[in-house]
Amino acid sequence: MDRSRTAYGGVIYRAVSDFTAKGRVQYVAHAVMSNDVAVAIGPQTESASTGESAENHPDREFWAQRKLLSLAELQAKCGSKTASIDHIEIDCTLTPCEKSGYKGCLHQIPPLVKARYGDNVKLTVFSHRDEGMGGKDGKPKRYLTCKSNSSTSELTAAFADHKGWDWTA
Ligand SMILES: [Zn+2]
Repeated sequence: MDRSRTAYGGVIYRAVSDFTAKGRVQYVAHAVMSNDVAVAIGPQTESASTGESAENHPDREFWAQRKLLSLAELQAKCGSKTASIDHIEIDCTLTPCEKSGYKGCLHQIPPLVKARYGDNVKLTVFSHRDEGMGGKDGKPKRYLTCKSNSSTSELTAAFADHKGWDWTA
């Protein structure tokens, strides 16, 4: 998958294109609304390292914060009171972890999305650092897709089935 720098008016590109420039691990999620406008769901989170405790990872901190926008607030920001969430694009320096089995971010984040926005929200998770996770498609950055209500086995399969992406020129 190639991600256009100009998609959604460049909103996501401007927010995350420097994710590998800093030593910190950064995380943010944008709701792409049905009118093709991307809105950041909440303030970006970051931490100095991913460490052993998954509860402190920026993934978990992002979805635990109290500043996440409601659907009504997303609709107001995208300029359409009737827009729905088409999908959510998550950008993180690293691929969601599988620490301690189902306690890792891979399995803990979709239920947090579900708690906020309900079932069947499509998620695309983009990582930005070359983690040596394959690259048979010649692209070091990885992404995976799942849903807010994906089962644990579906999430494990989505992680194993990660693919490559890059910014297009
Ligand atoms: Zn984690």
